[in-house]
Amino acid sequence: MKVCVIGVGYVGLITSVCLAYKGNDVISMDSDYDKIEKLNKGIPTIYESDLEPLLNEMVEKEKLEFTTNLKYGVESSDVVFVAVGTPPNENGSANLDYVFGAIRSIAKFVNGNKTIVIKSTVPVGTQKKVKRIVSDIIHPKYKVNILSNPEFLREGTAINDFFNADRIVIGADNKNEAKMLLRLYKDFNQKIIITRPESSELIKYSANAFLATKISFINEIANISEAYGSDIDEVVEGLASDHRINRSFLNAGVGYGGSCLPKDVKALIKIADDRNVRSELLTSVENVNKNQRKLLFKRLELTLNDVTNKEICILGASFKPNTDDVREAPSIDIINDILSSHGKVKLYDPIGMNNMKSLFHAKEIEYCKDIYTAVTACDAVVILTEWEEFKESNWKLIKDLMKGNIVIDGRNVLNIDNMLDLGFNYKCIGSRVQKMSELGTGVIETKIM
Ligand code: NAD
Repeated sequence: MKVCVIGVGYVGLITSVCLAYKGNDVISMDSDYDKIEKLNKGIPTIYESDLEPLLNEMVEKEKLEFTTNLKYGVESSDVVFVAVGTPPNENGSANLDYVFGAIRSIAKFVNGNKTIVIKSTVPVGTQKKVKRIVSDIIHPKYKVNILSNPEFLREGTAINDFFNADRIVIGADNKNEAKMLLRLYKDFNQKIIITRPESSELIKYSANAFLATKISFINEIANISEAYGSDIDEVVEGLASDHRINRSFLNAGVGYGGSCLPKDVKALIKIADDRNVRSELLTSVENVNKNQRKLLFKRLELTLNDVTNKEICILGASFKPNTDDVREAPSIDIINDILSSHGKVKLYDPIGMNNMKSLFHAKEIEYCKDIYTAVTACDAVVILTEWEEFKESNWKLIKDLMKGNIVIDGRNVLNIDNMLDLGFNYKCIGSRVQKMSELGTGVIETKIM
């Protein structure tokens, strides 16, 4: 089929490459000229494993092309995906300027019957608004179906997720209107759920809100575990063995970040509020998440006695491993806290450094080429992303290179026995064994077994 994807970010680029791989002719359009220029040279604009070879293969086979020319993309396609960003407004609501802007431009160039698919995460009721905008602009002789088709891929495993999602959700006013999209997905071998658009839009927000709830829930349990000397790993193992609960998203730590969970929780609270529904649970989910970041910094401050002039090595900039995305990453808040307390920051992340450079100037923090350079002469190390590389590093060498011996493991990824045996003053979130501390929530002091 002939497909156009508007907005070539994390979602748009993966959608384009994967649909091209499935044999469709894909035109990928973005208003960002630099992005398009890079992609036309076969250079991926995001980090995603396996993306580069697939991207180049699709371009070489002429199944995929990149352009800034929206008219060309729309006129040449039967199905047009909208995958532009929906960042949060000040009040937490989703900013729909990019979506409505793209829709108005698409509508202007409609030259026949088409299906427009909203892939961006948009508030409940947006498909209806888009429908009105489009019908006001297009020539009445054309039939344009507006569908909602939220995306569930995870950065870091995006290609695999696109091909093997648990479900494809299509929001349509009637089944007939979903026909083109069903054709496009016909050999995806995934469960397809067709709903009314209002349900499809809410499915996306509630999925992310539920995952965020699991994370905040386990973090609250971790804090309780510290106060009583329970071992959070044991608690999680016991919890996760119950198939109704399930192991995923039950890692205690510094909390969730990224471009989706924080903004989607905020937006859902606002969506509820717009219809006078007070979202008590989601408000708490957000508060717990904010507090985890504060708790981690407080722990660092208390362990160091004073952050002023201390050299602190941050390991991990991206909001999770295997992505370069630093949007709303805990690292941003923790670095800001350290800088405002007059501490010095050395940062290392395997691939998130470039994106961080647009947020912190090289005069503010020191960007290091590897983990060993980053830890050298530091008073404390703080782990904020659970990269495999950090787990596999030589912690004996790190201990020798550091000035101090404090490690705050914000993702609970290091082996506690090993860290204590090496002589680190090792602290994590929720813990194996700890005494009540000056924090009131307890920190690790010793190990039982
Ligand atoms: P992104 O910021 O990475 O990319 C958005 C792209 O849209 C940018 O390249 C921008 O230049 C382009 N754009 C904006 N307005 C445009 C216009 N009028 N015409 C052409 N291009 C335009 O965003 P993203 O992370 O890919 O997210 C896109 C949407 O998908 C959001 O609603 C997000 O919530 C949702 N989503 C994201 C993920 C994820 O993991 N990133 C997962 C599922 C859903």
